[in-house]
Amino acid sequence: MQTINTIKNLAAVLKHWKQAGLSIAFVPTMGNLHAGHLKLVAEAKAKADKVVVSIFVNPTQFGIGEDFDSYPRTEAQDAKQLAAQEVDILFLPSVAEMYHSNAKTTVSVAGISALHCGLSRPGHFDGVSTVVCKLFNMVQPDMAFFGEKDFQQLAVIRTMVRDLNIPVKIHAVATIRESDGLAMSSRNGYLTPEQRKIAPQLYQALCAAKEAVLAENQAFAQIERQQRQNLESAGFAVDYFSICRAEDLLPAKQNDNELVILAAAKLGKPRLIDNIQFKIKAL
Ligand code: AMP
Repeated sequence: MQTINTIKNLAAVLKHWKQAGLSIAFVPTMGNLHAGHLKLVAEAKAKADKVVVSIFVNPTQFGIGEDFDSYPRTEAQDAKQLAAQEVDILFLPSVAEMYHSNAKTTVSVAGISALHCGLSRPGHFDGVSTVVCKLFNMVQPDMAFFGEKDFQQLAVIRTMVRDLNIPVKIHAVATIRESDGLAMSSRNGYLTPEQRKIAPQLYQALCAAKEAVLAENQAFAQIERQQRQNLESAGFAVDYFSICRAEDLLPAKQNDNELVILAAAKLGKPRLIDNIQFKIKAL
């Protein structure tokens, strides 16, 4: 595996690959890699000739007072894991390499970026869509891999790729969980041992809400309220718990078929997000 820090050096390698007609898969990350990230890498390896993984803690997607400075940075350990998976390039740019000091352009996906996480993290998804668009321009991959763990992010990226005709195929990868159901996340490391025991209740609440929806005897608002209360009683500060249409993440109506329940809640320092996707009727 080659570690590359500059766009120029990246372009030099990509040129050879393109000339040789090799397909390129890309996995953007913020590092502090866990089994969820490594699953994305494994799927990328299975589908393309060459795999590029980026590690970049993107300042523009963090709000004021968020954890940009304290976000876990473990590049040496991450590089070892990626080399063991035979990744071809680790792209590890600096902030100065990624952003011109006089940068003026932002990619903003209207509508969907303002919902859910966008409400409590204004500007977050503009930071995400801008950096992913820039990384796509730098890496010029044929395909890119994103986790369903960040369901709204995936929807934002898919919309951006569609609207800007970006020639990259987006692959979604199912959420990898700990054995007790907690979705793996770099921010789980912020949990105290006590909070770590409580944390799986977020996924349990999503599973319970899904079962309640499938039972079809309660209004969605009532199910949301019930699970919110359960989480608040367990010690979470719930940001949102919303039964939505998978297609556009707007509130689901009783006759919608493809649903996703999205949740975000703070448990001590970290804000945990998770979701569960399902169909009411298998068509
Ligand atoms: P991050 O480093 O948190 O920005 O995540 C990089 C990529 O890994 C994103 O596409 C995430 O959705 C994905 N990812 C993060 N956690 C998981 C997980 N537990 N399972 C699957 N994919 C994940």
